[in-house]
Amino acid sequence: MFDSFGTGGLRFHLFGFPVRVDPSFWIVAVLLGLGLQDPAAVAIWVAVVFVSILAHELGHAFMGRAFGIYGDIELYSMGGVTKWFASRAVLRPTQQIAISLAGPCTGLAIGAGVWAAFEARGWPDVYYWRLTIFELLWVNFGWGLLNLLPILPLDGGHVCQSAIHWIRGYRDDGLPLLISVVFGAAAGVAALLVGMFWGALLALWFTIGSGAALRQQGPLRLRDVPWALLAALVAGAGLLALMRFTGRI
Ligand SMILES: [Zn+2]
Repeated sequence: MFDSFGTGGLRFHLFGFPVRVDPSFWIVAVLLGLGLQDPAAVAIWVAVVFVSILAHELGHAFMGRAFGIYGDIELYSMGGVTKWFASRAVLRPTQQIAISLAGPCTGLAIGAGVWAAFEARGWPDVYYWRLTIFELLWVNFGWGLLNLLPILPLDGGHVCQSAIHWIRGYRDDGLPLLISVVFGAAAGVAALLVGMFWGALLALWFTIGSGAALRQQGPLRLRDVPWALLAALVAGAGLLALMRFTGRI
């Protein structure tokens, strides 16, 4: 991405990476935490989201630097983004997969570390400590795993895109977009099933975005049909498993 590095907001350097935190990041983080009602709990939530998303983006940025591409980190209303100074297209598909996976894997590692530390030392009795741990686990594990779904523009969508490039030997955005539409629609239904209204809206937005980009790719190609059917089968099986897990079937 070549977007300019925005103006205003909180700016600092971390491990050599310029970081900018847009005011919209704090606003959305507070809005997402308002359900907690208690101001101290909301403050803990905002701190957890800030540290976790920053760590996620640092994962991308460090992996990019290992492959010789550099970027700025920006936290904004929709989460975080690492804006590269040069296009990632210069990298091999496997290197792009590694960069995409580095963010969520950092979160999963933090979640696993927090879990292991408190399993070993015992879970604290203090309410705010328990809340902090629960939120760290939710943001790093929960969001980390959801972010790995093959839906564009999530990291999982980029992994899918680069994996198809790697397997086919050429970049073709039609199939990853088709898979993104299938999984986006399934994720929207799944979010409604578990009462995650905002998650459903986000899934709908991603599905519409992928659908619009897919239309620009021209008519459906025959070679993509079996893969789209397989994606629909996997997404459908996931939905059925969720319905069974939530006792709806
Ligand atoms: Zn990411």
